[in-house]
Amino acid sequence: MKKAIVIGSGAAGATVARELQEDFEVTVLEAGTAFRPFRYSLTLLERLRKSGLFYDEREIRWLFPAMHIQKTAEKIVLVNGIGTGGTTTIATGNALRMDRDLQKMGIDLSDEFHQISKEIPISTAHQKHWSKTTRQLFALCEDMGLNPQPTPKMGNYEGCAHCGKCILGCPHGVKWDSRRFLRDAMARGAKLIDNCRAEKIVIENGKAQGVIVGKRFNSKFIPADVIILCAGGLGTPLILQNSGIDCQAGLFVDPVLCVATEWQGALQNKEVAMPFFVQQDHFMLSPYFDYLSFFFNKNWRKPATNILSLMIKLADSNAGSVSGKKIDKILQEQDKKHLQHGVDLCSEFLRRMGVKKQDLFLGTLNAGHPGGMLPLTEKEADTLHHSTLPENLFVADATLIPKSLGNPPILTIIALAKRVSNLIKR
Ligand SMILES: Cc1cc2nc3c(=O)[nH]c(=O)nc-3n(C[C@H](O)[C@H](O)[C@H](O)COP(=O)(O)OP(=O)(O)OC[C@H]3O[C@@H](n4cnc5c(N)ncnc54)[C@H](O)[C@@H]3O)c2cc1C
Repeated sequence: MKKAIVIGSGAAGATVARELQEDFEVTVLEAGTAFRPFRYSLTLLERLRKSGLFYDEREIRWLFPAMHIQKTAEKIVLVNGIGTGGTTTIATGNALRMDRDLQKMGIDLSDEFHQISKEIPISTAHQKHWSKTTRQLFALCEDMGLNPQPTPKMGNYEGCAHCGKCILGCPHGVKWDSRRFLRDAMARGAKLIDNCRAEKIVIENGKAQGVIVGKRFNSKFIPADVIILCAGGLGTPLILQNSGIDCQAGLFVDPVLCVATEWQGALQNKEVAMPFFVQQDHFMLSPYFDYLSFFFNKNWRKPATNILSLMIKLADSNAGSVSGKKIDKILQEQDKKHLQHGVDLCSEFLRRMGVKKQDLFLGTLNAGHPGGMLPLTEKEADTLHHSTLPENLFVADATLIPKSLGNPPILTIIALAKRVSNLIKR
């Protein structure tokens, strides 16, 4: 049987492994190790916070190795998941179909989304147990004509304990993450090699021959008949560049900024993350307890239970790049303008709740939806394969998404990964 190597086990990688296993002998290479949820007492850490021990977001890896943080020169904190399940393990479980731009260029993924709806439970069941604060926020959004929608979530949310730990690795096994697809693939024979970082693809005579993993004296060559890059929006471009294949400087990241205030008994830290959302032209809004700001931003030194926070998730411009360890991502003037519009809307919202302007504080600018560095165009609508790649080398992750969604991308990435897998099988 032909050998396929899948690099990465996140949204795209686990999907491809599961789809290809029947037709190929699949090996998944994963840079991180088995995912472990955050296991420390948040109350204890909240006390420790006063000691000034937490001063740089990158320290999070000592407490929670699955959460990987890099910073850009402009101090945007980039968050992604390293380990089995990739970033899906630290995601909030939101499930929105976001393929309008792909449809416009002739890529219709309706069949794939239909399949997903049968494979991943998606519901708004968490709504039944919303807290008083969440209900109050939702009602106010309705009054303001913002058309709020309960967020569809991937998983079995009837059992959601509303513990607020979605992004720390759901401790109750409620949230779906891509390890479920990975397990399916492995049950049917796929092999997982974790702690194994792919460095480059060896290309000879216009064909991908295999993958070099590890560095210098520890490096090793793994041969393959077909290779699928699913190392995420920051990881895949790096491997392509190491392999002599240029990407485009079109990196988007979906920046996130929270506008918050102190609110007695808000208890957002004990609520499902992003219970509902409001769509605007260039961003979405959602209630969100921002752990990164809570631990590392001095303005957030308030009791966790008393922080009321609204998140702005921005659709940023395709402008930025990854090269080596350097990530170049600078918000463009129009991004700053849209972000300010979001801040103004959240401020107005909180003003209507009786909050004074001087009592508002902002979170740390962070982002966790990187992609766009090998964007699909109409030219690739039928093949989802760029002509710059050898015919047996594919990309199947967020790197393919043409434009920032400013919205949860997992469902769309899974749909794309399914289509790429089907095209490989043909
Ligand atoms: C806090 C947070 C919350 C989020 N919430 C949501 C949400 O609710 N809904 C939603 O749709 N999206 C959400 N996202 C975004 C979503 O999780 C990601 O966009 C999505 O998982 C990306 O899928 P991917 O397959 O492209 O990459 P990933 O899921 O990031 O997977 C990439 C994998 O490749 C591995 N890897 C990287 N480099 C290498 C290498 N060189 N060799 C081998 N392996 C490598 C990584 O360890 C990782 O396992 C969230 C993101 C964050 C940070």
